[in-house]
Amino acid sequence: MRVPFIDLKREYKSLKPKIDSAINKVARSGSFILGETVADFEKNISRYLGAGALSCASGTDALLLALMVLNLKPEDEVITASFTFAATAATIARLGAKPVFVDINENTFNLDAKLIERAITKKTKAIIVVHLFGNPAEMDEILAVAKKHKLAVIEDACQAIGAEYKGKKVGTLGDFGCFSFFPTKNLGAYGDGGLIVRQKKHNYDLIKKLRVHGAGKKYYHDFIGLNSRLDALQAAILKVKLAYLDKWNNQRIMTAKKYNSLLKNIVKTPGAARGCKHVFHQYAILTKNREKLLDWLRKKGIEAGVYYPLPLHLQKCFSYLGYKQGDLPITEKISRTIVSLPIFPGLLDQELNYVIKAVKEFYK
Ligand SMILES: *Cc1c(COP(=O)(O)O)cnc(C)c1O
Repeated sequence: MRVPFIDLKREYKSLKPKIDSAINKVARSGSFILGETVADFEKNISRYLGAGALSCASGTDALLLALMVLNLKPEDEVITASFTFAATAATIARLGAKPVFVDINENTFNLDAKLIERAITKKTKAIIVVHLFGNPAEMDEILAVAKKHKLAVIEDACQAIGAEYKGKKVGTLGDFGCFSFFPTKNLGAYGDGGLIVRQKKHNYDLIKKLRVHGAGKKYYHDFIGLNSRLDALQAAILKVKLAYLDKWNNQRIMTAKKYNSLLKNIVKTPGAARGCKHVFHQYAILTKNREKLLDWLRKKGIEAGVYYPLPLHLQKCFSYLGYKQGDLPITEKISRTIVSLPIFPGLLDQELNYVIKAVKEFYK
């Protein structure tokens, strides 16, 4: 049997009439960037999240916009995780500021809140907390440290749309929440797209200007901004898909439960913290013999993934920051032992059973 890591064709097949008609409607409208369709989607997703949200061109741009609103300067430092996708820290560096990496918790793969305080200096301006793999980070602790030191909190919720921390949607707890609609994310477009949630009302207009070259009125520019807009085709597709997000997230949760119950005695399996809803963008286990396990699964026709094989503090692009092997021991250990197994809403029962059987056979 062949089991894909993710198969977006299945999803399209299940929604074809609705998606096709949404695309057609935009094509006939002749309006392709922002406009009514995008405003309509923004209204829908703001209602879903329970917070005011503005769309933009990608999750990376959502992070960049948040940092631009904070007016990040080259001498500023921003604390974040090293065990994440590159964009989390690259946006800090893109504005000339300095990413400061803090180690993660071994069980959640998220920032270890206890380690944040000692990384704070006079130059620290903000914390970017990542809800990695869909698992909410320790927000109470992180918000408390931030408040004590007057730091802004940006939530990188790119992998966690629909996840909840103590009854609230992640991305709505900090000063900013950033989401990605990259096709493989839990709510994916048919191209790039992003979303930013802001806590303070006055930042709404600022972000609205920043995403269109800093202009409030066309051709009158108050700031140097970005070209970072969602297009109407993506908004129309996302509006159709948003109606299924909770159902799909619940399917991911059911898949994770089954993996957990059948693999927990063999490998280290993931779980949600108490009071949290983990939406399992990825289902990641920890294992020794990772390369052998990956080989074994490949031979059985199963696609597994490694997220992330090289933490950011050891990446070439961040070598100028001066980190070395051993600086973040948990991050480094996890990146050597982690494996992601197939999880997506259209994964069939027989495929899931086949993956579980293959993992069990490997450890026999
Ligand atoms: C996907 C992702 C991003 C970037 O989103 P894009 O839409 O691809 O720009 C940022 N952070 C994390 C944790 C992500 O998973």
